[in-house]
Amino acid sequence: MESKQIKHVAVYLRKSRDEGEFDDVLSKHRDTLLALVNNRNWSYRLYEEVASGEKIESRKEMQKLLRHVEDKMYDGVVVMDIDRLGRGENKDWALIKDTFLYSETVIITPNKIFDLEEDNDDVSFDFMSIFARLEYKTIKRRMRQGKEAGARKGMWTSGRPPFPYYYDKNTRSLAVDETNRPIYRAIIEKYLNDENLIDIAIWLTNNKIPTPYKIKPNGKDKGWSHVTVRRLLKSDVHLGYITFGKTRTKRGQVEIVPDEERIRAMGNHEKLKTPEEHEKIIERLTKNKLINPNARRNVLPLSGLVVCEKCGHRMQLRVGYGKGKGKYWTLLCNYVYKDGSKCEQKGKQLNDDFYNALFERIIHVDPQILKEIEIHGVRFNDTKVIIEVKEQDLNKQKRALEKLYESYEESVITKQEFVERKELRVRQIHGLEEEIHELRRTLENKDNFPTITSMYKRIDKFQEIWNGAVTNEEKNKALKQLVERIVYDRDEDRIELTVCYK
Ligand SMILES: [Zn+2]
Repeated sequence: MESKQIKHVAVYLRKSRDEGEFDDVLSKHRDTLLALVNNRNWSYRLYEEVASGEKIESRKEMQKLLRHVEDKMYDGVVVMDIDRLGRGENKDWALIKDTFLYSETVIITPNKIFDLEEDNDDVSFDFMSIFARLEYKTIKRRMRQGKEAGARKGMWTSGRPPFPYYYDKNTRSLAVDETNRPIYRAIIEKYLNDENLIDIAIWLTNNKIPTPYKIKPNGKDKGWSHVTVRRLLKSDVHLGYITFGKTRTKRGQVEIVPDEERIRAMGNHEKLKTPEEHEKIIERLTKNKLINPNARRNVLPLSGLVVCEKCGHRMQLRVGYGKGKGKYWTLLCNYVYKDGSKCEQKGKQLNDDFYNALFERIIHVDPQILKEIEIHGVRFNDTKVIIEVKEQDLNKQKRALEKLYESYEESVITKQEFVERKELRVRQIHGLEEEIHELRRTLENKDNFPTITSMYKRIDKFQEIWNGAVTNEEKNKALKQLVERIVYDRDEDRIELTVCYK
């Protein structure tokens, strides 16, 4: 078809999957195509795909365009390249080709006009469409296949190798770092000899063994954690295996591949533990997970008791390992507000000084609290006085009612007078009885409120338990019997602890 015969066209724009993040690519394409159209003095309509789906079903503008092409609304459709029309499914390409062919609509790219009725153009259209749909599939597969093939040959393809291996470029496999070999074996033997994960982590940190993971960007090594040790112990790379395909992308979402679907092959590298050792390790790791969840969860004296003054949320305890000082705990607020900003509370490393200060704070009750208790005590006494007054009034009313009966029996008053006066007295008696009942109930509730004496008794009891407590769980229990919560606030180096008693 000669370009002279072309008068009215559609301009179709779509991002290709490779350009997902570059919106300016789309606007550059738009400029190029509109320049082309204006240059030839064609009238046009713009179809701009916002979403970049593979299939026609997910491309609204393409569906519309194909309907309009079918209705012979255009002499031609202008696109950047044939592959902008479609990628992916064969049936999509067949549909696109048939639509253009039967409506006698040409496809116009900046380089060439394709008229599918002409054999040459038909062939090159086919060729380009095949190329387009092959291209994205092969690119996607090539990397995966390369990795798979490598893994099947026993080569290492999975990124950073676990301690104490390193990647040898020449063999494309793992080799053992001889300095770290004895350390790895020591970890295995310590664990098999009943040492626990935390102690092994402390031992590694104290011996200045660089951690295999988690080295901070500033080059500082945070030291080993029990999590790192656990991961290392569990790894089957040291049994000789290599695993490929731990994650995959499904509908744009990265997901973890279940163990049984992963590609697992015997690697070329040296084995560093025996299957028997591995089995024992897994057995102990599993057992530790099942029994004694409290010990694993690390109950500390302050667990579940400290509330952040700044945001009002419960504060967390986090374990750390320091050179020389071994394991230590930090109290910190991890709360994140709905707008994504973090609570500004500053944390505190928990040391003996902190616990001593807290202990002092707890046993020396704030004078303000004592004053409140006293006020409550006064109110408590007031209520008792009121009840006494009401009870005297009640007795008076009851005596008056008795007298009323006597007066009626002795015919001092008429029946009518008796009924009226009796009704009045009975109403008053019921009213008083109800009032006294209510007052007594508030008194009962007040019995739960501490008096100053009972407060000191409870604190003495707490001191006794606390001083006798051996484990953190016991200390936590002692605190929880006395204390409802501890409100923490820190400004610079000033820490304020407010103790709320039960
Ligand atoms: Zn907070």
